[in-house]
Amino acid sequence: MSTYTVINPATASPVKDISMADLTQTDAVIAKAHKAFETWRKVSPGDRAKLLRSFARIVDEHIEELALLEVLNSGHTIGNARWEAGNVRDVLNYYSAAPERLFGRQIPVPNGIDITFKEPLGVIGVIVPWNFPMPIAGWGFAPALAAGNTVVLKPAELTPMTAIRLGELAKDAGIPDGVFNVIPGKGSIVGDRFVTNPLVRKIVFTGSTQVGKSIMKGCADQVKRVTLELGGKSANIIFADADIEKAAAGAPGAVFDNAGQDCCARSRILIQKSAYDKFMELFEVAVKKFRVESPDLDTAEMGPLISKGQLDRVQEYMPDQSKIAFTGSKPTGDGFWFAPTVLMADSTNDRAYREEIFGPIVSVMAFDDEEDAIKLANDSEYGLSGSIWSRDIGRAVRVSRAVEAGNLSVNSNSSVRYWTPFGGYKQSGLGRELGPDALDAFTETKNVFFDTQN
Ligand code: NAP
Ligand code: MG
Repeated sequence: MSTYTVINPATASPVKDISMADLTQTDAVIAKAHKAFETWRKVSPGDRAKLLRSFARIVDEHIEELALLEVLNSGHTIGNARWEAGNVRDVLNYYSAAPERLFGRQIPVPNGIDITFKEPLGVIGVIVPWNFPMPIAGWGFAPALAAGNTVVLKPAELTPMTAIRLGELAKDAGIPDGVFNVIPGKGSIVGDRFVTNPLVRKIVFTGSTQVGKSIMKGCADQVKRVTLELGGKSANIIFADADIEKAAAGAPGAVFDNAGQDCCARSRILIQKSAYDKFMELFEVAVKKFRVESPDLDTAEMGPLISKGQLDRVQEYMPDQSKIAFTGSKPTGDGFWFAPTVLMADSTNDRAYREEIFGPIVSVMAFDDEEDAIKLANDSEYGLSGSIWSRDIGRAVRVSRAVEAGNLSVNSNSSVRYWTPFGGYKQSGLGRELGPDALDAFTETKNVFFDTQN
């Protein structure tokens, strides 16, 4: 068994050694989850609902503890981390209503009765990235458990601490042994075994497009079900007729939240030419005001990057000085800090403009008119999120219908609401999470015909 030393990204100091599972241990936990499925699927819908509510209640009682763990492990601002732990509770509560509403249909047919059932799949493998360790875990395990599946969950190697704690809290809530299993380990070992072990019936993966593609290929071997939430290069499209003050004030948070390590980050700002100067002036004031500081401070709006490796990757995208419009601030001292940076993109071929950086760098590009804005927004292999700012209702409707992305906000930068479906177009993913239909992704539809003629 190997261990991984968790590093506090704000100080670069070691926090804790975590044991990493090997293949044998991974297989043993999968086998345990497979066995637990036989009983968990038979727990009555009302009792399953009660257990999920009890899990939500216990998470609620531990919000502060979970939030502080995330600050320590991931460098998230304490404000964000509290929201993230609260999101796990909310998603559990939301899907606790699902077991009792997992309806099939009765379909009119000749000579009998036809009924559909939504049956659980079995063991679900949830593979979580390091950028939002708690919410992304919850979006997978809560609906999966609600539908009667059991779960094996692999946190990212860099950020296992809150997932391990959630696993313990599930036990305290009375979730039966083997139903919800957290397995810290490497992607190439534990994550890959989820793909190859036939007892795992579905993979829910969030992470890079590159690894997502290899998982999809691997799943083909067993026709394993797969949901993918991958990268993004979302556009924040601002028309001259918008409330420019509001758009500029919100633009730093839309891309620099979580230090830009957000698949929904609005990392391309498309601004109409006639409003360019006004916007840039206001945006500069907002970026300079954006508080990048120790994440345990209540006032912090941005913390460090997750790791030295990520800091180096982000640094590679820095062009020469002439393309930097302005930057914000960062603290001095140890830790993986990178100041918010605004680049002027002069070509759509710039690497920083095209590629997902996953750091606090945004590229600004001017456009002429509505048609031009849509063309620029869609000139990407990604299609996850985005914002449209305009006071013209007709234009807001037209542009939001034309942009090829799964989650758009008009006159707002909000991305994920657990009541609504979330997922990507094009290479940003496959399938949808959250919202009222999430259980469709964790069930098979079974059709049964009852002959009434004999
Ligand atoms: P990643 O490699 O895709 O990691 C995501 C998860 O997949 C982690 O739990 C990882 O485990 C696991 N994994 C890695 N290789 C695997 C394999 N062969 N089989 C099964 N699971 C595997 O992402 P990353 O390296 O952390 O980040 C790289 C870049 O990906 C970022 O800079 C960013 O551009 C993008 N990214 C996007 C999102 C998103 O939300 N869309 C999230 C994270 C990263 P380990 O942690 O143990 O490697
Ligand atoms: Mg990786």
